[in-house]
Amino acid sequence: MAPFVHEFESGSKEQKDLLGGKGANLAEMTRLGIPVPPGFTITTDACRHYLAHGEAPEGLWGEVEAHVATLEQRMGRRLGDPGDPLLVSVRSGAKFSMPGMMETVLNVGLGDAAVEGLAHQTGDPRFAWDSYRRLLQMYGKTVLGLDGDLFEDAIDAAKRARGVTADVDLDVDDLRGLAARFQEVILRESGAPFPQEPLEQLRAAVVAVFDSWNSDRAALYRRRERIPADLGTAVNIQAMAFGNRGADSGSGVAFTRDPATGERGTYGDYLPDAQGEDVVAGVRNTLTLADLERIDPASYRELLEIMARLEEHYRDMCDIEFTIERGRLWMLQTRVGKRTAEAAFRIATDLLEEGVITEEEALSRVTGEQLAQLMFPHFVHGGGAEAVATGMAASPGAAVGQAVFDSDTAVRMTQEGTPVILVRRETTPDDLHGMVAARGILTSRGGKTSHAAVVARGMGRTCVCGAEALDVDTRAGCLTLPDGTVVRQGETISIDGSTGEVFRGEVDVAPSPVVRYFEGEVDPQDAPPVVRAVHRMMEVADRRRRLRVRANADNAADAARAARFGAEGIGLARTEHMFLGERRAMVERLILAEGDEERQVVFDELLPLQRRDFVELFEAMGGRPVTVRLLDPPLHEFLPDLTELSVRVAIEDERGEHSERDTALLRAVLRLHEQNPMLGLRGVRLGLAIPGLFAMQARAVLEAAALVVEAGGQARPEIMVPLVGDVRELRAIREEIDAAAHEVRVAHAVHLDHLVGTMIELPRAALTAGEIAQTADFFSFGTNDLTQTTWGFSRDDVESSFFSRYLEKGIFGVSPFETIDRTGVGRLVQIAAWEGRQTRGDLKLGVCGEHGGDPESIGFFDESGLDYVSCSPFRVPVARLEAGRCAV
Ligand code: ADP
Ligand code: MG
Ligand code: MG
Repeated sequence: MAPFVHEFESGSKEQKDLLGGKGANLAEMTRLGIPVPPGFTITTDACRHYLAHGEAPEGLWGEVEAHVATLEQRMGRRLGDPGDPLLVSVRSGAKFSMPGMMETVLNVGLGDAAVEGLAHQTGDPRFAWDSYRRLLQMYGKTVLGLDGDLFEDAIDAAKRARGVTADVDLDVDDLRGLAARFQEVILRESGAPFPQEPLEQLRAAVVAVFDSWNSDRAALYRRRERIPADLGTAVNIQAMAFGNRGADSGSGVAFTRDPATGERGTYGDYLPDAQGEDVVAGVRNTLTLADLERIDPASYRELLEIMARLEEHYRDMCDIEFTIERGRLWMLQTRVGKRTAEAAFRIATDLLEEGVITEEEALSRVTGEQLAQLMFPHFVHGGGAEAVATGMAASPGAAVGQAVFDSDTAVRMTQEGTPVILVRRETTPDDLHGMVAARGILTSRGGKTSHAAVVARGMGRTCVCGAEALDVDTRAGCLTLPDGTVVRQGETISIDGSTGEVFRGEVDVAPSPVVRYFEGEVDPQDAPPVVRAVHRMMEVADRRRRLRVRANADNAADAARAARFGAEGIGLARTEHMFLGERRAMVERLILAEGDEERQVVFDELLPLQRRDFVELFEAMGGRPVTVRLLDPPLHEFLPDLTELSVRVAIEDERGEHSERDTALLRAVLRLHEQNPMLGLRGVRLGLAIPGLFAMQARAVLEAAALVVEAGGQARPEIMVPLVGDVRELRAIREEIDAAAHEVRVAHAVHLDHLVGTMIELPRAALTAGEIAQTADFFSFGTNDLTQTTWGFSRDDVESSFFSRYLEKGIFGVSPFETIDRTGVGRLVQIAAWEGRQTRGDLKLGVCGEHGGDPESIGFFDESGLDYVSCSPFRVPVARLEAGRCAV
């Protein structure tokens, strides 16, 4: 059987599946000769076995002991040795980084005897006892699952007793006392004493790390990030490097470029005399790398050299964790760093310009989702609002909401529809649900690498952290501003994650510079760097992509914006809105009409109105194809509400004011009333049930096109028939359309090409696509209805009822209305595409459902060989970028 344990020397960064991201990168750094404390990794195989069977796989503990023995030999120290003990960390690390979501236990191997040995050996009893109290605290909290406050309260009490505020001001006796108190807590709360046997500590810590894979917060994080639930975590066991050995020691976190803006140059936080978890937890405010340069120039230089090497090796921005033990630098972690959307674009284009990566790679490092984020509005500056405090610009965006001071309240208020800003001194992984719910996150402590900042960036949530001037009191539920005034829960505040500013009240928001660029209002050459980066990436994407991008637009304004945003046509112009407003009365008359003649009168009135709408659309699109969908929704949607009308008629009759018209209308409403309107009289069925309706619409489209052409313009009409399930339905309608087209051509004597196609939005249409293609020039997949009819889900009902349950149970990872269900609905798309093209090689294929703007789904449509996707105008740049990404 394959071994469950691998030395750092034997792995590489390619082995994230087996060793997890942390383990694989520790191995990679070790092989590069970068100073990494020695150690080994327990594989994800072992974890998966444990999770499946509830116990470690046979042979695991034997292997671990053998590797501990090797490590002991190498280090010349033994785990738990009362003379000179070896201490190790036990660190989680899954394939995909889940910052702070799982557990890590430091200083494993200490005990009542070993702590004395460590004190004696290092000549530093304070350090030894500090390490021991940390082990007891982490063991209690993580391995035994005790409430962390039990320990924090004891530390606070010790500080109060000594009259100090910082943990570094506690002396050796305080720490010794704390260790004793922690042992009491452990005995009292867990019913067993803290295990003195180091291998027992080690095994328990490994199991705790395994278990942490299934903690609530880890599971929530995975769902959000779409990380599969069955991967498991690796466990890294590593000799400790001590950052808590006095002023010449410390721990830090750093990035090779700024993770918030992408700007070139290193960025980091450093905390002297601390172990690494203090930096991320934000227990004290950190120093900068520039401060480190002053304190320890040699370590600083070495750190910078290593960072440059890592960036060169990984060919991307890296983040690192490091510890300095008495002037000696150790690297504890590296990975390709998480970054904001702005940083992603800037880093990709900078690396491209620096010649480090190719165009394809640059494109693969930015996503449509990130572009969408950059298109969000931001605060108007100089609008009179004055910042009450400034923290770090940790994750960009403009967020306005009511201040709340705990995560449960944030979730509750958000569910009630109130936007909130979560305000904390610092966040911990237990705040994840609150951070997910909040519009933005504000903390008074911690740097750009604190938990709040890292997690917020990962989720694209606006975050300002380390706003020290704010005095946050989470227990009292308020924060005190520098001028002494108090902001309480429920008061509106605004935070700017791009500048770090905090405002009282609501600040106005303005469009993003990226949107202004797409609108053609700014020249990319003298725009902010992020706009230049977006411009460059769009240029690459447009050059590479095969898939074309159209927009869904029903009016000239939307069509014009879509064209500015790069749409290559309209994939869906709905005609239903053209029947609303004043025209509703005409529809009523149409429905009440008896016989062809009466109907024709209404058609004659509607036609010129429709024609004008279409002229505007064609003009806005300047010769690009425009797909017009004939009337789709059930007719009753245009009629008065049944209950209201019944009441009106009843009242009229009671008062003796009987209205023949209202009575007729009521009869029509009753006649058209349906139990399942979405499966009723709509789409092509309407066209067949009301003779002349679709011919009138087609004539309006084609006359509009003829008028535009006559005026010297261009028009490419594509007429689309909705909800077809059988070729004979389409054939009947097509005859009407082609006849109308012939008459228009003769009357206008212009050259006019038109296409007639159909939506594929019923399973039967997909399954008989080969036949339907005999009569269709194009197919447009209506994936909303196709999802609805394939799953039998009523879109208007299910998303708010049982979908959250389905998501929790993992029945699907994401709603099939958001991302195309490849295996089911997607298969129908592929069958229809394939069989349609068998019949007609030049059959044009597109998508006009919501999925046309969804990055995941766009990849699928590209693979399936479709010609274009169509999405909302605002989403067009996102789709262009994603189409480019799937071509590389
Ligand atoms: P996470 O995945 O949450 O970042 P880590 O496994 O990186 O958890 O551990 C948390 C912190 O513990 C790290 O920031 C690091 O500084 C510290 N740490 C882990 N292992 C060691 C070690 N061998 N020596 C010193 N510090 C360590
Ligand atoms: Mg870490
Ligand atoms: Mg539809």
